Amino acid sequence: MNILLSKPHMSGREMAYVEEAFSSNWIAPLGPNVNAFEEELGKYVDHPYTLATSSGTAALHLALLTIGIERGDVIFCQSLTFVASVNPILYVGATPVFIDSEQETWNMSPEALRKALVQAATKGKLPKAVIVVHLYGVVAKIGEIRHICQEFGVPLIEDAAESLGATWQGQMTGTIGDIGFYSFNGNKIITTSGGGMLLLSSDSQRQYALKLATQARENVLHYEHEEVGYNYRLSNVSAGIGRGQLEVIEQRVRARRNVFRRYEQMFSTIDVTYQQEIPFSRANRWLTAMQIGRDIASRDQLIQRLGDAGIESRPVWKPMHLQPLYRDAEYVTVDKEDVSRHLFENGICLPSSSSLTIGEQQKVIQAVLDTRHFVKEKSV
Ligand SMILES: *Cc1c(COP(=O)(O)O)cnc(C)c1O
Repeated sequence: MNILLSKPHMSGREMAYVEEAFSSNWIAPLGPNVNAFEEELGKYVDHPYTLATSSGTAALHLALLTIGIERGDVIFCQSLTFVASVNPILYVGATPVFIDSEQETWNMSPEALRKALVQAATKGKLPKAVIVVHLYGVVAKIGEIRHICQEFGVPLIEDAAESLGATWQGQMTGTIGDIGFYSFNGNKIITTSGGGMLLLSSDSQRQYALKLATQARENVLHYEHEEVGYNYRLSNVSAGIGRGQLEVIEQRVRARRNVFRRYEQMFSTIDVTYQQEIPFSRANRWLTAMQIGRDIASRDQLIQRLGDAGIESRPVWKPMHLQPLYRDAEYVTVDKEDVSRHLFENGICLPSSSSLTIGEQQKVIQAVLDTRHFVKEKSV
């Protein structure tokens, strides 16, 4: 492939921080870059309780442990997402219930969530948490969702793995719910080569998450352990990369939004739709995701033909309720319509790197338009 979906984009400042780690011999986990990265990211998202982790998945696992999720508990989660939003539910022995999406943002439907909560309340078993995702960096209907969660007294976890820099009413996604996290995996909007950040709601909660992330050592001189811990901290070298990346996050958001805008303009004459920004929100448009209408190729045919042209694209995430791994899980929709399935069947993600050149994007656009002609000719 010549044109990738989303590739790392260095600022040039990363090596300075990494070299600092080397010259001070802070190669071991933890160290000054980790503390600085937590502080600097905390400043960027305006949130005081940040904890750098080895991955976004580890951050979510810690989130569930920190709020006390136990075996047999139920967690509600958006179905249309990457599997890492859900697997930690199984790590702690809880049971996921999947919630359908709405058409506008493609994220959790507040209506379906309310319906599921009412059903759960009737059965006398409310979930212990709700996990909402800001898919591809587009802000979910987070105000309504938070309101509903508060009404039922259920903690809200924000999976902001894909949405660093996306805002709602001036607040950063990840800081709106009770607990949130980001991912710095290689293909995300900024990267540490691998890593994550957990956002907690108090200093004591942060202290507890930190303890679990460092083998749950008790606060005594020798190594004393009362509960199971993990090795989930970010390394000082990786945090150095993160610091260099964080300096350019706003540029990266602008670049991805420009990529989106160009696609939207160039495809204005064809029958496609996109995730919408709700009022007072800003998406980071990590990936441009598009629904193809009836007059273009099928999703798979489009992906195939883009691939033939050296362009990487991929289907929208396959919803969790359709995954063999989660086939027995409950799934709640507003009515008979399965919105997330439809979004999956017709949805494609286009190359969206912040380093994508106009020339490269023009190639992608032309390839998509050519596919449309191909199909039209064939059907004549
Ligand atoms: C990437 C991602 C994660 C997991 O993050 P890792 O750092 O890869 O563990 C979780 N949820 C979503 C929606 C993601 O895209």
